[in-house]
Amino acid sequence: MDKRYDHKLYEEKIYSLWEKSGAFTPKIDPKKKPYTIVLPPPNASGRMHTGNVLMIAIEDLLIRWKRMQGFSTLWIPGTDHAGFETQITFERTLKEKGKSRFDFDRNTLYKKIEEFVLENKGLIEEQIRNMGASVDWSRYKFTLDPDVIETVVNTFEKLHKDGLVYRDNYMVNYCPICGTTFADLEVKHKERKDPLYFLKYGPFSLATVRPETKFGDTAVAVHPDDKRYKQYIGKEIEVEGLLSKFKLTVIADTFVDPKFGTGVVKVTPAHDKNDYEAGLRHNLEIKPVIGLDGKLNENAGKYAGLAVTAARKIIVEDLRKKGLLEKIDENYIHTVAVCYKGGHDIEPTILPNWFVKVKKLKEPAHNAVKEGVVKIYPKWQESKYHRWMESMQDWPISRQVVWGIRIPAWYDINDNKNLLITFLNNKKETVSGEIGKLSEKYSFEEIEKGLQTLIAPQSAKYVIAAHKPKGEFLQETDTFDTWFSSGQWPLVTLGYPNSKDYKYFYPTDVLETAWEILRLWVSRMIMFGIYLTGKPPFKDVYLHGIVRALDGKKMSKSLGNVINPEEYQEEFGTDALRMGLISGTANGKDFNFPRDKVISFRNFANKVWNIGRFLSIVLEKEGYKKYDDLLSYSKDMESKLKQEDKDLVKKFDQLTKDVNTCLGKYRFSDAAEVIYHFMWDDLASNYLENNKNRVDKDVTLSVFRHVYFNSLKLLHPFMPFITEAIWQELKNQRKYPEQLLISSSWPENM
Ligand SMILES: [Zn+2]
Repeated sequence: MDKRYDHKLYEEKIYSLWEKSGAFTPKIDPKKKPYTIVLPPPNASGRMHTGNVLMIAIEDLLIRWKRMQGFSTLWIPGTDHAGFETQITFERTLKEKGKSRFDFDRNTLYKKIEEFVLENKGLIEEQIRNMGASVDWSRYKFTLDPDVIETVVNTFEKLHKDGLVYRDNYMVNYCPICGTTFADLEVKHKERKDPLYFLKYGPFSLATVRPETKFGDTAVAVHPDDKRYKQYIGKEIEVEGLLSKFKLTVIADTFVDPKFGTGVVKVTPAHDKNDYEAGLRHNLEIKPVIGLDGKLNENAGKYAGLAVTAARKIIVEDLRKKGLLEKIDENYIHTVAVCYKGGHDIEPTILPNWFVKVKKLKEPAHNAVKEGVVKIYPKWQESKYHRWMESMQDWPISRQVVWGIRIPAWYDINDNKNLLITFLNNKKETVSGEIGKLSEKYSFEEIEKGLQTLIAPQSAKYVIAAHKPKGEFLQETDTFDTWFSSGQWPLVTLGYPNSKDYKYFYPTDVLETAWEILRLWVSRMIMFGIYLTGKPPFKDVYLHGIVRALDGKKMSKSLGNVINPEEYQEEFGTDALRMGLISGTANGKDFNFPRDKVISFRNFANKVWNIGRFLSIVLEKEGYKKYDDLLSYSKDMESKLKQEDKDLVKKFDQLTKDVNTCLGKYRFSDAAEVIYHFMWDDLASNYLENNKNRVDKDVTLSVFRHVYFNSLKLLHPFMPFITEAIWQELKNQRKYPEQLLISSSWPENM
């Protein structure tokens, strides 16, 4: 053995040794119990962050432990298409070339993003390998694989048949100039100076920057604790308007800032996000006054047809003439939302969206955890799940991005003349408008081929089908929320509903992930699992903490405190990084990146190596060149053992029990700690030191060799590379020299 362990010389070689041995690919064996984990899929176009690394370390630990215990162990790897994030990343590369998504029709854009992802997908797969993950690559899945899409589409059809899907209004970030919606991530916020108008509103004076939306007001709101207005709460007020007198109710809601303006605000649920949410809470009417063309609509009476900024000027003038304008603050600075594409003002707009009714889905999912059919570790995280299940509302699942699974809804253009579409014609010019008018000028084929977006009114007729129906049908251009497909991850990875894998490996054993996505992801998987199969998709959920930066803050690019795990891997070795993170994650709490622990486990790795090297040198010196040359440890040796030997074996037995107990309760850092202390203190410092001068060298060496090899087994799931490296270096000292440590059996009581 070399004087010191150099991880760079071993890691790659050892990974390929494991992979070639077939140890990662389990057999479906009815005589064995299955043990299954699905890897939470990292984003295909990204790099792994520290949280991903922790996740891999924990899951590989569990998988290796169970594999050595004789389970038929399956760990399925995969990557996620990550709709929004990936599309935005891709659009940045387009921008560098002076292009944008608006230069392409939908299908072309999809193919371009797909190519981009395929180029990058290899990077993350390589990182998963470098971490030593013993995943079954032969079962690798991507969330946009054709069979995944098929299952997801089938689920949507079933939900629709069961009456659990509907279309309803939903507030989106809409840019009337670009004619499209933008994700929250695509909306920029900038500070701007705008006039703040103080309007006379019945008994009140109230401030607004948007007097033109007053035709859409359906309430007036004050803060519940604001003493000035207490007597008005719940009452109706009469307001003198530009078109006519109208009545509004005064609601009390904590979203009102009593310090803004006069502490009274008008509520326009159709055109403001806060107002929209307040509207949902107070059951307010939603009354749109601005159309998708950015002009005031019929609700604005004589102002209909005016664009927003032009309308504002005229309306302010008319309010002044009627004596309804009290004053103007010309120096009001506020934050406005603009589209990232052209910097145009975002118009929060209500558009029809696809929803899933959650009541029937969430009740059994809630009960599964209440009744302990699914257990959440650590236990203190469980209340988050219950709170979420109690408050969960119907789920809006449409996303206005191309990179995703397209919703399988089809609109017959002859039945839906008022579909609003945007497409590139054959000359690559952008054309927008109602399909009824546009189809007089353009053929269906030209429209379909160049289609970018489609907005179907609430009343549109549609067909849900996996494939295009016969006739002039345009498919919905919205895609599913990423969580809608990844919510079916345990099912799609196992080939639900008919595969042998599904029948043998489902339900899986544990779902391990960051607590941050308990709501978004874990809850949805439980809902879909029970809805489709009658069984929750896993028995246990283990939620790990968030790895924070060295300074204790959340890692963020803008703070410049992001830790690149690969640098640590390079310097200290994968084993030290894995063990450092595992040891840092006590009871699922958030923790600072444990730099000191990584270093101390690098030292531990050296110690473990040195013990092995010492053993090999002594055995060589004493003439025990092969396993059989030395007395092999067995129960029959009992009479020859000294008290020190018996104590060591007893301690090791206890260690094995402790490790099993800790891992069974997902107390990884405790397990790491006991192994560390056993090997360093009990085995190396005490036993070796105290027994080096014994006359019965064969007995003490036999005990020592035996306990050391078994300790390597216990340590293997935590530090797989170095333990396997030593195992191979000392193959002559083992009964089965060809055996790999990864496939060896877990120690039982000696
Ligand atoms: Zn725009």
